[in-house]
Amino acid sequence: MSQDSWRPRKRVAIVGGGPGAISTGIAFLKRGFDVRIFERQSSCKAIGGAVLLSTPVLAILRNYGISAEHFGSFTVTYFKNEVGMARVELPFNPEIERKMGIKGWHYGVLRSSIFKKMLELVPEHVIFPGHEFTHYVEKENEVELHFQNGQHVTADIVVGADGIRSQVSRQAFGDPQLFHCGIRLWLAWCDYIPGIPPNTGFISHDRLNQASFFPMTHDGKPGFEWWVVEPSYEGKPIPKDVKAHVAGILKNWAEPMPRFLEATDFDTQVYRWEIYNRPSLKKWSSGRIVCVGDAVHPVSPYAAYGMGMAIEDGYFLARALDGVDLRDKHAVSAGFELYEQERVDYVNHNMEFARHLGRLFHSVPRPLANVRDWIFDNTPLLSYFMKNGYLKNSEEETLRLKELHVC
Ligand SMILES: Cc1cc2nc3c(=O)[nH]c(=O)nc-3n(C[C@H](O)[C@H](O)[C@H](O)COP(=O)(O)OP(=O)(O)OC[C@H]3O[C@@H](n4cnc5c(N)ncnc54)[C@H](O)[C@@H]3O)c2cc1C
Repeated sequence: MSQDSWRPRKRVAIVGGGPGAISTGIAFLKRGFDVRIFERQSSCKAIGGAVLLSTPVLAILRNYGISAEHFGSFTVTYFKNEVGMARVELPFNPEIERKMGIKGWHYGVLRSSIFKKMLELVPEHVIFPGHEFTHYVEKENEVELHFQNGQHVTADIVVGADGIRSQVSRQAFGDPQLFHCGIRLWLAWCDYIPGIPPNTGFISHDRLNQASFFPMTHDGKPGFEWWVVEPSYEGKPIPKDVKAHVAGILKNWAEPMPRFLEATDFDTQVYRWEIYNRPSLKKWSSGRIVCVGDAVHPVSPYAAYGMGMAIEDGYFLARALDGVDLRDKHAVSAGFELYEQERVDYVNHNMEFARHLGRLFHSVPRPLANVRDWIFDNTPLLSYFMKNGYLKNSEEETLRLKELHVC
């Protein structure tokens, strides 16, 4: 390891090589820190297929040098029932659009293509693959990280970005008490299908399941991200024929949902995701250790924001430590505190709201589910939930990112 780019007072060791880690790495490098990223796999890889990224995340990526042109186009999102009746049209906020210089709110992109662009911003010598973190030893002025391969390294701070089963978070905050959220996601993507209205995304529900789609772009080509959420439980068997299983769920669904089945290669374009969560944490730091992303807040797909929030965390953390001498324990804890003030309540709210929506749509027994659906079909309650439970907070957060505004 070259010592001239590993200067005491500047040393940021990041455990993990997912989107949270890479965003944190880029953000600290941009602010003049020395960064090392330790990933247990033989390279940093993006999991899953497509992903939705919202305006604040796009603005952060733009700040890193990744142009919003790669993210497809603006999309009007509708909540519908399974026969195609619209329950909610998510509004755009013209003030946010103008200030951020980004039309709409959610953009779909293939995860591997955006992750590749992020990785291109990290110099090769910064990433250390094949380094599985085992534990740290914290000292007064620094912290020692140990790896499965017998190596160790000394840093000023450690950022745990090692995902939902984070070893860093476990050592710092104890057993995460992960629990199954009662839902399973089939996440898929496919190439463009003619005849589906442009700039339109549906999130639709029947009594038990959700089926949704969104336009997306990968390698500059248009396509679709689509997904099905069904009730599940820990250890629920995996169907032998996934396509037949998903087709069974979609059999009474309005167009265009059934059309995605034939356009998708179920061997390479479909991912199963069992949704786990943890009780919310009030603190994400301890001494010289701090966490970002799923390591402290795994998110259910109802937020469509797990990757986005991990990317945001890295940006906010580096901003909170801008100019700090990382040997200085008090300055470090003040920086961590600022980061936590800006992030913890906001992210916990999104995590809990997403979990709540999952229960509302997938765990309600039949008579109550019928009442729920009547209310959502005939009153503005769902619209109220979406605007106040999700959009309002995120829009306020976006407006606070003043340095990313274009006007
Ligand atoms: C199939 C699937 C679909 C998803 N779809 C969406 C979506 O549509 N929208 C969305 O916003 N989110 C989605 N998510 C969630 C999103 O992927 C996560 O929220 C996001 O990846 C979190 O990023 P992260 O960097 O915190 O953690 P991760 O992406 O989990 O990265 C953690 C990294 O740490 C490494 N690591 C783990 N332990 C160690 C160790 N001991 N030492 C060194 N390295 C270690 C892992 O190998 C991994 O590279 C999806 C997740 C899955 C599984």
